[in-house]
This record gives sequence, structure tokens and C-alpha cells, in this order.
Amino acid sequence: MDRNLVAKLGLADLEPGWVWLVGAGPGDPGLITALGLQALAQADAILFDALVDETLLSLSDAEKIYAGKRAGVRSCKQDEISDLLVSLAKEGKRVLRLKGGDPFVFGRGGEEAQALARAGVNFRIVPGITAGIGGLAYAGIPVTHRDTNHAVTFITGHGVDGKLTSLDWAAVSHGAPTLVLYMARRFAGEIADALMAAGRGPDEACAIVSNAARDNQQVIVTTLAGLGAAAQTAEPLSIIVIGENVKLAGELSWLAP
Ligand code: SAH
Repeated sequence: MDRNLVAKLGLADLEPGWVWLVGAGPGDPGLITALGLQALAQADAILFDALVDETLLSLSDAEKIYAGKRAGVRSCKQDEISDLLVSLAKEGKRVLRLKGGDPFVFGRGGEEAQALARAGVNFRIVPGITAGIGGLAYAGIPVTHRDTNHAVTFITGHGVDGKLTSLDWAAVSHGAPTLVLYMARRFAGEIADALMAAGRGPDEACAIVSNAARDNQQVIVTTLAGLGAAAQTAEPLSIIVIGENVKLAGELSWLAP
């Protein structure tokens, strides 16, 4: 029996002059999609960001260009990345833009796709597993659960200016029972205060999942009142989840320590 199932899927090819914007998932290289693997196998040039797992990159002989951005350190400006994607594609290269998680979830994939569309470059979006869903699953936290929450809100903790996101926090607090916060470690205390001021309970369950789906994953379970202090002790790469569904981690943690 031929077990090369990926080959049997008959996937599209990454053609010369095309750019594929691919989500690599939150960490575990096994979380890349079959289309993502196809792009890794076929790319001439890969632009990757800081969150992409090295094992994935090591699979490819393509030219690899680091286009990382980390809070505070701007190694490559967004415009430069977009321009580079356009020029590589216009040189006739098969270009893979590999981003952590899902390219369209707080990942500026939309801006890059806009630049490609405006330059008349052909592109494909390959969605990935986002940290706020798949990363939580690696901590045994279902992002929705019938007994705890029928809705979820995804939030970024800070905006382009590096300040706390200007949101109607009172409205947020009265919206979905579960809140999932990206890029929020630094402002976790302020966010918790704003939510409590709007009526969310200080004893409400919260988790900080750091380096989710990676070998060094860490989960801190705390309360809304304790969130600010706990966040200060957490690793920089953290996703925060607030809501009753966090309590399921007690029963559903499955990743061996
Ligand atoms: N596009 C990405 C998010 C990029 S924003 C996605 O869909 O997952 C970067 C933020 O994502 C980080 O500040 C952190 O809050 C979160 N994040 C990404 N990968 C993570 C991981 N492995 N563990 C914990 N948080 C992660």
C-alpha cells in the first residue's frame, strides 16, 4: 500500500512567480498543514518570522530570509517585507511566506496579501492553526465548551503603537464569557483591572500558556485578580485565556511534562 497520502491529495503546486502565505502553527512542526508542507518542498525562497519552528525550515534547501519582528526589536519593517515578497515573485521565484500560527490572525498576513494584490502578484493563503485555539488545546483547554462558553473573543493586547489596545473594555467584559488575549503579557494587569472594574469576578479562572505546543510549554493557572502578577513571571511568548473553560485543563491536560 502506498502510504504517501500527501502526494495522493493532488494539491496545488507553488508555481514560479507565486507567493504562498502559509501558517506554520504555534510550535509543534506536526501542526503545519499538508499545503504548508507542499510549499516547503517546492519553494525557492522562504521569508519566515521569529515564531516559525526551526525543524520546518531545516526541511528546505530554499534561500531563507529572516523577516522577524519581536516586541521592541524591529529587525525588518512591514513595508520592506511586502516589497521583498513582490520583488522575489517578479523575479519568477516560488515564494513561501511562512508565519507563526495563522497568517490572518494578528499576523499582518492581510497587509502582505494587500501588497501582493496591489502589485498584481498571484498569491494563495494557506491558513494555519492559531495559538489562541491550537495552543490552548496543547494545554488541555478547549476554546469553547458547551458547559462553559458559547462564544469567545480574540483580542490583541497592544496595537501598532505598542500601547494597550484601545477597546471598550466594559463592552468586552460583557460580551463573550471567554476571552483569548494575544500579545497581552505586558498589559495583563491593566486588562484584568479594566475587566474587573466592568464587573468580571476577581476569582474568575485564567491561564497563561507560554511556548504553547513547544518542548518548553508552560501553563500557569491563576485568577483574574492574580493575572497581572502571574504574567510578569511568565515567558515572553504567551497566550492568555480568561474564562470558566480554563478549569477543564485540570482534567484534560494531556501533554507529558
Ligand atoms: N499569527 C499568530 C499570532 C501572531 S501574534 C497566530 O495565529 O498564532 C504573536 C502572539 O501570538 C504572541 O505574542 C503570543 O501571544 C501568541 N503566540 C503565538 N505563538 C505562541 C505560542 N507558541 N505560545 C504562546 N503564545 C503564542
